[in-house]
Amino acid sequence: MSSWIDLPAGTGFGLANLPLGVFSPDRPGDAYMCSEQRGRRTGVAIGDHVIDLAGLTGDQVHATGSLNAFLARGPEAWAELRRRLTGWLVDPAHRAAVEPHLRPRDAVTMHLPVEVGDYVDFYSSQHHAENLGRMFRPGQPALTPNWKHLPIGYHGRSGTVRVSGTPVRRPLGQQKDAAFGPSRRLDIEAEVGFVVGVPSALGEPVPVAGFAEHVFGVCLVNDWSARDIQAWEYVPLGPFLGKSFLTSVSPWVVPLAALEHARIAPPPRDTPVLPYLGDEGERWGLDLTLEVRLNGELLSSPPAGLLYWTAAQQLAHMTVNGASLRTGDLFASGTVSGPDRDQRGSLIELSWNGAEPIKLADGSTRTFLEDGDVVTITASAPGPDGERISFGEVTGRVEPAS
Ligand code: CA
Repeated sequence: MSSWIDLPAGTGFGLANLPLGVFSPDRPGDAYMCSEQRGRRTGVAIGDHVIDLAGLTGDQVHATGSLNAFLARGPEAWAELRRRLTGWLVDPAHRAAVEPHLRPRDAVTMHLPVEVGDYVDFYSSQHHAENLGRMFRPGQPALTPNWKHLPIGYHGRSGTVRVSGTPVRRPLGQQKDAAFGPSRRLDIEAEVGFVVGVPSALGEPVPVAGFAEHVFGVCLVNDWSARDIQAWEYVPLGPFLGKSFLTSVSPWVVPLAALEHARIAPPPRDTPVLPYLGDEGERWGLDLTLEVRLNGELLSSPPAGLLYWTAAQQLAHMTVNGASLRTGDLFASGTVSGPDRDQRGSLIELSWNGAEPIKLADGSTRTFLEDGDVVTITASAPGPDGERISFGEVTGRVEPAS
């Protein structure tokens, strides 16, 4: 299939992707804009362009400033939009109707794609969990006894989930022995996020097989983490202020429908799971390769295909007690790490808790982030016919503590 739109060679935003996001036509710094131009609307990325869906379809659901109302319509509406978009972009007869609603992607401002409902963060990479276990519980089994029986997670702070580009201000907080000050161990966590479209009823668990009925798509997440605040506060109730100061997400949500060629079997499980977590026939391993860059330099390439628990199992676990889903709920995989050093998705692993500083190309070293550092996470996955599906990026610059 080809399009009448000029698609740059190797674009990760071809006809097989069609991710949704929320944009406004003005660029930061543009001085003169009328109010209509400032309006946030739903866009589809195609090549180097964005399609203004509100303008093209006339459907006001795409002019609400978030994807929530459209995502709530469910899988049939998602599939119908995808079918129509493909038709418009492939058949030259539609060119004259579509072209007025195209804008260059580098001339728009991207916003948070969804009004985030609840936010849950998991801990589903065995390599990440084992690395942290070895660092913090030396001499004991690297995994806690529950780890292979359930996807461990916690409820995070949805109000501080922000779009890529939002600066991260170094947090202040209480640290070991009640010391107080700016975090000196500011870190990243490279993760994959899942966006819920269709809500569920209180008291009714969502089975593994219900995953694609509820979840619309996938984005990238950077779970900024202050390790010194986290280490002091986390016993016995888990992450709190060491995480809640900011969580960054990529602006484009890639539909599950774009990831059929990326679906793979998760790694072999050597421990039987309870029936509600069984995923035979519903395997949602996703062959995403993430890339983590610090000031433009590639630090690592974490493989999300190696995650032990899939997002479908995470969703089933998250609702097995009857907790309901809302449109806009976001849940994240947990730090993605692979077996190799250059596959680790956090600085605490890359620098082995600071003991092995990371050497950068400019001769400097890092254990944790310094003010002014820019961290960018990108990812891609296989699509049809050798095409790559891009997830865009989630980026942020570290600002000094106030
Ligand atoms: Ca995390």
